[in-house]
Amino acid sequence: MPPRIEGQLSDALVEGLGDPCLGIDRSGEIRIFNAQAGRLFGLRPRDVIGKSIYEALPLSEFTRALIAQIKASEPTPMEQVMVFPGDRLFAVQLSPVRTDRGRNLGAIAVLRDMAGVQKIEKGLDQFLVDVTRRISVPLTSIKGFVETLLEGPYQDPEITRRFLQIINEEANRLVRLVMSLEESSHAGEPHALNVGTVRMERVLQAAAEMFRDVAAGKNVELVVQEDAAVPEFQGDAEQLRRAVVNLVDNAVRFTGVKGHGQVKVTAVHENASLRVAVADTGVGIPPHEQERIFERFYRVSEGPAASLGGTGLGLSVAREIAEAHGGRIEVESRPGKGSVFTIVLPL
Ligand code: ADP
Repeated sequence: MPPRIEGQLSDALVEGLGDPCLGIDRSGEIRIFNAQAGRLFGLRPRDVIGKSIYEALPLSEFTRALIAQIKASEPTPMEQVMVFPGDRLFAVQLSPVRTDRGRNLGAIAVLRDMAGVQKIEKGLDQFLVDVTRRISVPLTSIKGFVETLLEGPYQDPEITRRFLQIINEEANRLVRLVMSLEESSHAGEPHALNVGTVRMERVLQAAAEMFRDVAAGKNVELVVQEDAAVPEFQGDAEQLRRAVVNLVDNAVRFTGVKGHGQVKVTAVHENASLRVAVADTGVGIPPHEQERIFERFYRVSEGPAASLGGTGLGLSVAREIAEAHGGRIEVESRPGKGSVFTIVLPL
């Protein structure tokens, strides 16, 4: 292959990398500076190529490390996370370039944006802090009530009953938490479906059944209504129940906080789709948060719902299940008025 073509191919490769990429020769002159590098440093490649790195770029941890690659007598490739203009984090990979005989030709740097990773780690940190708190609160309370009972009042059946009820509720919270942690360990993986015949009516009734008492205790009316024309279809009934449970759980919680209201679960067959909707008259979700609530670990941090959030996993799991069935999930909500979550499944 003629060398000219090779040169053009490697130019195309450098531009096509999608990551900032720089190359200097052994004198420190910039030979490669792709468009992504230009964007990162706020410079045009053609203003930089051919100039010395000392003059073209501000001195920084990055330029010093790159220069070290051409200065050191025995340089070794390295990878390190560094901070760049605008407080952006990049994983920087630096490699010396030598001929087979060890002649120093220069050095190259490839930078990988860590923004995505940072976001996940931040979410994870917050999540762990939260989980720890959520475990310790009910545990402390269970321990407190058990100790108090052991100290004597168990002789009074009424007090004992009340304490046992509290202990039971706290234990339920722990169970729910562990269940959602278990879900989180599967979240992100494609849902393996155990496909069979689904009768939506049963799925909805089973999901609603779990919340009858809780809803009544919060003065929330829970209604299930299925369109008579909904046909049976092939899907994973257990997973679909899980998705609906997550929606009803939220609806009851975020309506109960108002002291009264209604949660209505409906299934309608429409244009070759099945629309399963969970509508509530609860606190609603601010418009700017509606995009984000389906992200893993995301919870609305302001307003009346802030203190009621669980682990921030329920909706992301519901969305994964809808998508695994070839469907999707939608939300419509008005703050203060209520929300409607709809799972749309192709039939
Ligand atoms: P979790 O309920 O465990 O916090 P989800 O993923 O189920 O996590 O929900 C994410 C967030 O979306 C909740 O914390 C809450 O702020 C908001 N949200 C979900 N459903 C509703 C609803 N029906 N009404 C109001 N806010 C809701």
